[in-house]
Amino acid sequence: MAFSRDRIRHPFALRRLRVSAVDRVVPNIVRVTLTGPELADFASSGPGDHVKVFFPDPASGILTLPDVDAQGLRRGEQGVVISRDYTPRAIRPAELELDLDIVIHGVDGPASAWAQVAKPGDWLGVAGPRGSRLVPSGIEQLVVIADETGLPAVGRWLELLPAGVPVTGLFFVLDESVESYFDQEAASRLDAEWVTRDDGRTALEESLRSLGSIGGTTFVFMAGEADLLVPLRRYLRHELSLPAEQVSASGYWRRGIVNLDHHAPLDPGDPD
Ligand SMILES: Cc1cc2nc3c(=O)[nH]c(=O)nc-3n(C[C@H](O)[C@H](O)[C@H](O)COP(=O)(O)OP(=O)(O)OC[C@H]3O[C@@H](n4cnc5c(N)ncnc54)[C@H](O)[C@@H]3O)c2cc1C
Repeated sequence: MAFSRDRIRHPFALRRLRVSAVDRVVPNIVRVTLTGPELADFASSGPGDHVKVFFPDPASGILTLPDVDAQGLRRGEQGVVISRDYTPRAIRPAELELDLDIVIHGVDGPASAWAQVAKPGDWLGVAGPRGSRLVPSGIEQLVVIADETGLPAVGRWLELLPAGVPVTGLFFVLDESVESYFDQEAASRLDAEWVTRDDGRTALEESLRSLGSIGGTTFVFMAGEADLLVPLRRYLRHELSLPAEQVSASGYWRRGIVNLDHHAPLDPGDPD
């Protein structure tokens, strides 16, 4: 069966939003709640949606936003513009609130460094989402494979999936403290296996292979460190012969690369 996934376009907006709350969901993931009147018409209806988040320059602390014109975002003449991609984890338009879950991985990334010391009253810019790809119609089972950066998207899948669709999760994380990321309701929907990233690529691939064959009404969503996803995608696409519409594999970051362009093919030697 070929899945069809509707796309919805949203009016483009760049919003300047104030931090109203900061919470450590687990030791290395910070939930930042943003607020502002511009959130009244914020729309995001796809589980894999992302926004472009603008952070202050770590050197000066100054937040510089790009200019917006008919073509979209344009870098202005002044200031240092720094942006990274994040998943809109929860949206509460009536309360004018948006949650982002930001992984802390050290101080060499401006987003991670900002999140470590984020506090109410700080400001960020948020652009998009430009559009949403909805949950595939006809889905009867979901397999999600993610590291910490993909967990917010998995959280959205769990909320947007029709009731009764079983979900198998294969998560590759730094340590077991991340295992309490999902609240009880979400966790109860998941048949989850947590693999420690230090066990490496082999353990992850073995866990995926141990799921056995994957039926035509099962959708597979993968998000996380790009190099770890490459062999998993190859296994699904070539050994199991799953069509491209049945597998969504997105590199959310790549070891050693600053601000990975996720629109570039995950596996340049074998693009979809
Ligand atoms: C569509 C999409 C949605 C995303 N959603 C989320 C989300 O909801 N939450 C989230 O936390 N991230 C998410 N990401 C990933 C996030 O955009 C990247 O991790 C980003 O590079 C972080 O920016 P930074 O400034 O901290 O590090 P950068 O300046 O981009 O990178 C600095 C160094 O840190 C490394 N690095 C980057 N991220 C990580 C990491 N997670 N762990 C270890 N090393 C890392 C890089 O390889 C580089 O060497 C998403 C990415 C995409 C494409």
